[in-house]
Amino acid sequence: LSDRLTETFRNLRTKGKLTAADIDGTVREIRRALLDADVALPVVKDFTAKVRERALGDEVNKALNPAQQVVQIVNEELVAILGGEQRRLEFAKNPPTVIMLAGLQGSGKTTFAGKLAKQLQSEGHTPLLVAADLQRPNAVTQLTVVAEQAGATIYAPEPGNGVGDPVRVSRDGVEHARRQQHDIVIIDTAGRLGVDAELMKQAADIRAAVDPDEVLFVIDAMIGQDAVNTAKAFQDGVDFTGVVLSKLDGDARGGAALSVASVTGRPIMFASTGEGLDDLEPFHPDRMASRILDLGDILTLIEQAQSAFDEAEALKVAEKLATETFTLEDFLEQMQQLKKMGSMKKMLGMLPGMGQMKQQLEDFDEREIDRTEAIIRSMTPGERRNPKVLNGSRRLRIARGSGMTVTDVNQLVQRFEQAAKMMKTVARGGTPNIPGMGAM
Ligand code: GDP
Ligand code: MG
Repeated sequence: LSDRLTETFRNLRTKGKLTAADIDGTVREIRRALLDADVALPVVKDFTAKVRERALGDEVNKALNPAQQVVQIVNEELVAILGGEQRRLEFAKNPPTVIMLAGLQGSGKTTFAGKLAKQLQSEGHTPLLVAADLQRPNAVTQLTVVAEQAGATIYAPEPGNGVGDPVRVSRDGVEHARRQQHDIVIIDTAGRLGVDAELMKQAADIRAAVDPDEVLFVIDAMIGQDAVNTAKAFQDGVDFTGVVLSKLDGDARGGAALSVASVTGRPIMFASTGEGLDDLEPFHPDRMASRILDLGDILTLIEQAQSAFDEAEALKVAEKLATETFTLEDFLEQMQQLKKMGSMKKMLGMLPGMGQMKQQLEDFDEREIDRTEAIIRSMTPGERRNPKVLNGSRRLRIARGSGMTVTDVNQLVQRFEQAAKMMKTVARGGTPNIPGMGAM
């Protein structure tokens, strides 16, 4: 798939200024890539329109590297849709917190119920699993097994007790939790293979009866183009407060995530990534963005663009050194550039073949830069321009102001001096390098 997209970005990269035609070509390829990832067409249209508008605007025109800027816009917009409303479970002020699950049959509700129970249990909660799927004969048995594996308690109607009423079981389950002091109730409900009026009514009735704090809509990431219709049907029929994306361990590209998030505006809260009860993760919008657009190759291009950028910066710095004006301000600026790259670390972590850069980022500690920044911010402009004036009492003042120790301040000044020395070598024609960061 992304060969073409990669090619498109590569072509962009070799250009300086981008024309409207360049951008249209790129937007066309992004559109193709999204459709390949099974993102629903209306969502793709909205998305590409937004990217195109931003790409034609000033931020790209004025960017040092316009192509890189376009890639960043694409990534930002993806993350915005996927994670604009990212949030965690909300617990009720008066326990029990009631969490109801809804979704098609086979979407992964019962499995997720077990995973969530196990996770909550490990966090010190006392979840009660309520078996309100009385549709399939073995659904209660399945939840019983899952509960046992999760080490959680289950509330279920007596076996062989005729056809149960899921609304009543749900209500009784919550009542039982209150009496037995379970602080969380997870209600596992029935699903059908397709969207079905009777099923919706049942789910809506359960919702009305127990007034849950969270209704989580579980959807199979492999569902593809059906994602939009299914999600809309559940939103209209039951409504939900959050989304669980299941079977992300499969080879689905995750277009369903973008479709559901975009069409329903509800946050995706969990990623279910396997059949085991430990295969549960909070949802990461940035990872999903990479997965959807196959950003691996594109990030390589960013990396190339970035190194070109750094070279240009290094030249600028060399020039400053030649005129002896390299200051702590410049030093800080360089550090911050590194930090920008560091924030890609997470995304890179899941990408294959990022070899060298990944390793460099592994060695790189963002907090280091925060500390450096704190110290330099506590200096006066005069001190930043001329660190030679930093005597003992000034260093003590800076340490206090930045919440660091005098040793930290000393180390920073020392590193700056080393860096400045190194930069001098650069200025005399040595190999450009970024000071102060070892492997970087
Ligand atoms: P329900 O009908 O919505 O309750 O769905 P189930 O929880 O019974 O899951 C249906 C099938 O999907 C079962 O075979 C599960 O083992 C499987 N399953 C559920 N979640 C995941 C997941 O995240 N990854 C994988 N690979 N399989 C899953
Ligand atoms: Mg089930």
